[in-house]
Amino acid sequence: VSGERFRERRARAVEAAAGAGLSGLLVAPGPDLAYLVGHEPPPLERLTLLVLATAREPTLVVPALEAPAAESAPGIEGIELMAWRDGAEDPYALAAALLEPGRYALGDQTWAVHLLGLERAAPTCAFVPAGETLPLLRAVKDSDEIVKLRAAAAGADASFERVVGLPFAGRRELDVAADLDRLLREHGHQRVDFTIVGSGPNGASPHHGASERRIVAGDAVVLDFGGVADGYCSDITRTVFVGEPARDQLAVYEVVRAAQQAAFEAVRPGAAAQDVDRAARSVIAEAGYGERFVHRTGHGIGIEVHEPPYIVEGNETPLAAGMAFSDEPGIYLPGRFGVRIEDQIVVTGDGAERLNEASREPTVVA
Ligand code: ZN
Ligand code: ZN
Ligand code: ZN
Repeated sequence: VSGERFRERRARAVEAAAGAGLSGLLVAPGPDLAYLVGHEPPPLERLTLLVLATAREPTLVVPALEAPAAESAPGIEGIELMAWRDGAEDPYALAAALLEPGRYALGDQTWAVHLLGLERAAPTCAFVPAGETLPLLRAVKDSDEIVKLRAAAAGADASFERVVGLPFAGRRELDVAADLDRLLREHGHQRVDFTIVGSGPNGASPHHGASERRIVAGDAVVLDFGGVADGYCSDITRTVFVGEPARDQLAVYEVVRAAQQAAFEAVRPGAAAQDVDRAARSVIAEAGYGERFVHRTGHGIGIEVHEPPYIVEGNETPLAAGMAFSDEPGIYLPGRFGVRIEDQIVVTGDGAERLNEASREPTVVA
């Protein structure tokens, strides 16, 4: 990402803050700081804080020992560094001195101890959650970001295509999860964040991890896995069958597949996020499984695996070209099995495109 791009992002963020009636935006270590500066220090007790205010040049308050790392961040040009030393300065007083009285958006993942320190040092300022006031800071991806999301998705697709060639029956969920971990790393991922393997009744728990359970013939197995490739997240779900699926398993699978397709077809610029959820939900409700679709249809994806926009009833956010999010309806039958199918999709000028291309046909494994 070029220095110019980082500068544009910061300018947009300040504009968005001003548009929301705020005096600025304060950003602690995490995905927003990575997006705005390319600086990725660990979130720790020492204060690191980017101050983006309408009334001044961008300033990064940084612990002295991390100043060299900050200086080499790809987006640091145009940002004033303000280093503070352990025991010599109060970082909250330093940050507070940069703030005109007013209301500031504060990144959602800022540690409470830092917010409390700021509140103490800047009694004329109020802080509101950035996620509520500036939810679309990172939602619309630029072309470089779409390329990276597509590459991450391709790595997840390739991992799925490989894992279905491995044996399932007789092995533990944990063994298949370890295969997925290795395959993601072999396919461009530097980090693996989750490898859900929900076999048989475990598949009815949407966020089941992976257990000691041995997979048996006749199981439906929910595989939901992803991680980070070149700074951007992957996240895919496929449900496979160990041996030929039973008629009821296949029937549920086809309902989920139709719901996933209906959501995909509902995506276009200007549609509300909740319309996409409704499209998937109505297919599942009509088939009689409305009560068994227990989560929203999707979440945005980018530097974080879950970020705005959320594809959920009540979210009237209009979709815009460049937004990327998951389409992942599911049906969960306690004590029996679950089915979920998930692709990442991106809004185009007149509709949507899938980033995941792995087959959505019912897949039989051994
Ligand atoms: Zn999930
Ligand atoms: Zn997932
Ligand atoms: Zn997901």
